[in-house]
Amino acid sequence: MAGMLYLVPTPIGNLGDISTRCRETLENADFIAAEDTRVSLKLLNHLGIKKSLVSYYEHNKDFKGEKIVERILAGETCALVSDAGSPAISDPGEDLVKQCAAAGITVCAIPGPCAAITALSISGQATGRFCFEGFLSTAKKSRREHLDSLKKETRTMIFYEAPHKLVNTLEDMAAVFGADRPISLCRELTKLHEEVVRTTLGGAVAKYTENAPKGEFVLIVAGAEPEIEEAPTEDDAAGYLKKLIDSGLSRKDAIKQTAKDLGLPKNVVYDLALNIEE
Ligand code: SAM
Repeated sequence: MAGMLYLVPTPIGNLGDISTRCRETLENADFIAAEDTRVSLKLLNHLGIKKSLVSYYEHNKDFKGEKIVERILAGETCALVSDAGSPAISDPGEDLVKQCAAAGITVCAIPGPCAAITALSISGQATGRFCFEGFLSTAKKSRREHLDSLKKETRTMIFYEAPHKLVNTLEDMAAVFGADRPISLCRELTKLHEEVVRTTLGGAVAKYTENAPKGEFVLIVAGAEPEIEEAPTEDDAAGYLKKLIDSGLSRKDAIKQTAKDLGLPKNVVYDLALNIEE
């Protein structure tokens, strides 16, 4: 009988955040696949767990993924951990989950620390609808393209960012979203120097240009104000209707189509049609 894959979240700073279930899963697994075995060994030593570790990271994931799947199919249970937080979220794991699912292996994700959700919860921004954007590219052109694609995003946006890229990223965000857009910068979460700075993109650029940022950051950026669609004017609707008639549509069909496309009552469009010559 095949074993299982467990996704085991680990603390993002405070070691007390490891749950009983995570600890037990690590203890009971046949082997642990880790993003960086040295980092995970420190956690296992802290927990007093001795277990066989294999490395599974970005650059060996195709080859190692196959080996891990083979071992699970042969009956072993694997616990996957990343350096910190939830595996598969801007961390290795997504492909292993796909490979296991394709092989019919049961995958179980244990809930636990995730920097994105921890930051969103304390950001003070709207949490009802949000999107996770992960890391922006280090290349300026693709970073700007990514941000441009979010110009009209109305949901709260979550980004991961490294301190040495923070100012460039904030400058690009201010250029695309506007300097007045609210942002919450969540730093060193669950650690001694945990801090949440609730400001605007312009304010954040000024603050971190003056004082170099330190530590790990999650950026929670407010979404754009929703665009209010203006109702078409009579002239717009008449022009639209005429174009349809000129293109060969019968008057009846053109009226129906205009009403539907512009969201207008049919009798209003019918009145407009009276002024268009047969
Ligand atoms: N899978 C992880 C998770 O679910 O939390 C995220 C891994 S990603 C490679 C690392 C990024 O997460 C960091 O660059 C930072 O943006 C964010 N991060 C991780 N720990 C953090 C912390 N304690 N405080 C703030 N941000 C953190």
